[in-house]
Amino acid sequence: MKKIRLLISFLFFVGFITGCAAPQISQPPAPAAESSTQTQTQTQILSPALENPDVHEVGFDIDDTLLFSSPAFDRGYAGAEPYTAEFWKIINSSDEEVSVIKEKCYEILKAHQDKGHKVYLITSRNSDGGEALKKYLSGKMSIPEKNIFFEPHGKTARIKELGIDAFYGDSDSDIRYAEEAEAIPIRILRSPKSSYKGSCNPGCFNEFIVPDSEE
Ligand SMILES: [Mg+2]
Repeated sequence: MKKIRLLISFLFFVGFITGCAAPQISQPPAPAAESSTQTQTQTQILSPALENPDVHEVGFDIDDTLLFSSPAFDRGYAGAEPYTAEFWKIINSSDEEVSVIKEKCYEILKAHQDKGHKVYLITSRNSDGGEALKKYLSGKMSIPEKNIFFEPHGKTARIKELGIDAFYGDSDSDIRYAEEAEAIPIRILRSPKSSYKGSCNPGCFNEFIVPDSEE
């Protein structure tokens, strides 16, 4: 009889323990709260390069990254044989009049300047008539003209030589150049209105993509 009473007491005890423990084990709200915090943090990040203490020098592509320049290219195609010196002269002297600065990317560029980072611009355009583009962007964005480069044959060597820590671009090739030069690649989204359709697969290198950077 004593044994039965002990058994009953034991069963009550087990029931009590599991009855209390069970709700503690299956509490679903914790992960939900965590994911909401993560989402909030992600939306606040403009660029990981701005938060990285190892970043001091940054580079930006120009076409479809810093400038919506399709109107300048339209002028080039209408006025000259494509890819001739005259073609590039028309484009490089048209930006001030017809290209549009992309707001989100420019905001990032200014944030880097505010942090005292050195900013470089590297374009794949040919340098014919390039002084006009240099003068325009230098004046508009407070970047020394000597920090603006024309690299129609690839940007990897220049990114490396300048010691650029993070490079922003819209094309897959920009991301590849950055990786080859061991810089942090950051994707700026190309506007769907751009007339340039060269390879553009945001995220294909697992790179950070700046949200809402199309315009
Ligand atoms: Mg580009």
